[in-house]
Amino acid sequence: MSEVLAASASTLGQCMCIITGASKGFGRALAHLASKDLKPGSVLLLVARSRSLLQELKEEMHRLTEGQDLIVQCVEADLSTKEGVKDTVDMARQYTGNEIDHVLLVNNAASLGDISPFESFTDLDQVNAYLALNVSSTLVLTAGVLQAFPPRSGLQWRVVNCSSTFALEALPSWVLYCSAKAAREMMFRVLAAENPNVKVLSYAPGPMDTEMQETIRRLTGVQYQLNPCKESATKLMKVLLNNDFASGAHLDFFQL
Ligand code: NDP
Repeated sequence: MSEVLAASASTLGQCMCIITGASKGFGRALAHLASKDLKPGSVLLLVARSRSLLQELKEEMHRLTEGQDLIVQCVEADLSTKEGVKDTVDMARQYTGNEIDHVLLVNNAASLGDISPFESFTDLDQVNAYLALNVSSTLVLTAGVLQAFPPRSGLQWRVVNCSSTFALEALPSWVLYCSAKAAREMMFRVLAAENPNVKVLSYAPGPMDTEMQETIRRLTGVQYQLNPCKESATKLMKVLLNNDFASGAHLDFFQL
């Protein structure tokens, strides 16, 4: 492992930090925490579909980080579409000339999808639409950002995959969600195996009080014991700042 990958740091450095699904839930909590650890000159790209929520978050960020000299940009993009992914990569590309010593891409955006018995998934378009956001866009976005900021010595490059216990565990009627999370996990293990200059972490954030959990409750009647997003985001930030994980690892909220 190179020096740059092994070193721990008290900040995220001068960072190009991209958080997908930043408008709500875990992504929003993580954006709040990450902004405090960004050095002056850093760029924070907040990606989601809801323009008003992103704008509101951007204003919060400006208040929180006053005097910190950060560039905060909202990217209103539907990541299930080609255009949405392209707009996000294009926005990141605008900053390739900036002095950046760390690229941190958090692939957080996801959807729950239909929770139904296996045999109900007979519509190829429905399945492809789900996979477009939850698997394909993650690959295409990560590849695009890797091309924009080619890994090199002196540039710390990290990808976080927001994973789930259900990447590893089969849950009846959750074929879409489980399959997508499992595919993402392998996708990022391949990246870790392929590129030693990119450090990859699959983080299962544990059950959190978010819109996704409201939907789970509504659809299944199951009520998990939920943690605040901030608690899980704090654990992830600690792991990132300490840099104490093996590339390609799967870490769970409950293990930390
Ligand atoms: P939420 O559903 O609360 O938020 C999802 C985020 O993704 C929102 O910001 C949403 O923004 C964005 N998003 C959804 N669809 C799209 C799209 N097509 N294009 C762009 N952005 C999109 O999810 P959570 O915060 O609960 O989950 C965050 C991550 O953690 C997910 O990967 C989830 O699978 C994982 N996870 C969550 C758990 C939980 O208990 N909540 C447990 C384990 C894992 P907008 O609607 O504005 O586009």
